[in-house]
Amino acid sequence: AGRDSFNAWKVDVPEVDSKTPNAARIYDYDLGGDHNFEVDRAASEEIQRSVAPTGPFIARANRAFLQRAVRYCLDQGIDQFLDLGSGIPTKGNVHEIAQERDPSARVLYVDVEPVAVAHTRQLLAGNERADIVHADVREPEKVLESRQAQQLLDFSRPVALLMVAVLHYVDPAEMPALRRYRDELVAGSPVVISTLTADERAEEAQRVERFFAENAGTSITFRTKEEVRSLFDGADLVDPGVVWTPQWRPDPGATTGEWDVSRAGCWCGVAITR
Ligand code: SAM
Repeated sequence: AGRDSFNAWKVDVPEVDSKTPNAARIYDYDLGGDHNFEVDRAASEEIQRSVAPTGPFIARANRAFLQRAVRYCLDQGIDQFLDLGSGIPTKGNVHEIAQERDPSARVLYVDVEPVAVAHTRQLLAGNERADIVHADVREPEKVLESRQAQQLLDFSRPVALLMVAVLHYVDPAEMPALRRYRDELVAGSPVVISTLTADERAEEAQRVERFFAENAGTSITFRTKEEVRSLFDGADLVDPGVVWTPQWRPDPGATTGEWDVSRAGCWCGVAITR
């Protein structure tokens, strides 16, 4: 369970609103993390009870996809990762997976949420090959021109661009700003995306949308499978294309337990830039 005092971790966390549920901290709770407040835990339970019983399943299936996708990138020889909307550090972070396999791998995280940024900084203390930029992903200049990006990432070589469970927070009208990241990538760079959909669950999605708008002031964009496919335009999707998160190159023997794959709620895919 989470704790209510962030001082318990001796982390300097500015601007934290512990009275309003927060999507990043609800997600952390759903993953079994302890970087969340009572309001976040209550919100998660409320979501499971009256909004979407699959909340934690969606979170876990998404996180597992992220981890398999990072391993896939490593298999392709990728050793640089730009992780947009990286979230609150929970076990099995991108840098842990990458640096375990390849200690020279470099990871730059980006998040707008102060709690996520403070805890990522603490976790990365002493790690010279991983860092975080506190920025909104819709400000690519701030990210790409940051000291951290300049020090860590070499865009003359392939960089994996991770946008996992973050694009549903970006309005379609604001998506052109994100093109800047793609423009930086040389051919052979993986683009990794997962994002919420209302496909096959329209009513549940409406309830989720309303809940986040009313309780967290967050608006959510659900994308159809076709819309998710078009997010990869200009890059070549690797097999199996755009699928539900548990269906993307599952580990041998993996199951979704009681849940149908479509209840994982997110379409996902990996493509390689040309
Ligand atoms: N990518 C991680 C994963 O898939 O496990 C974390 C996903 S978590 C559901 C979404 C994260 O995106 C949260 O930490 C949230 O703070 C962050 N986020 C949402 N909108 C953002 C924005 N406009 N700029 C930067 N980060 C954002």
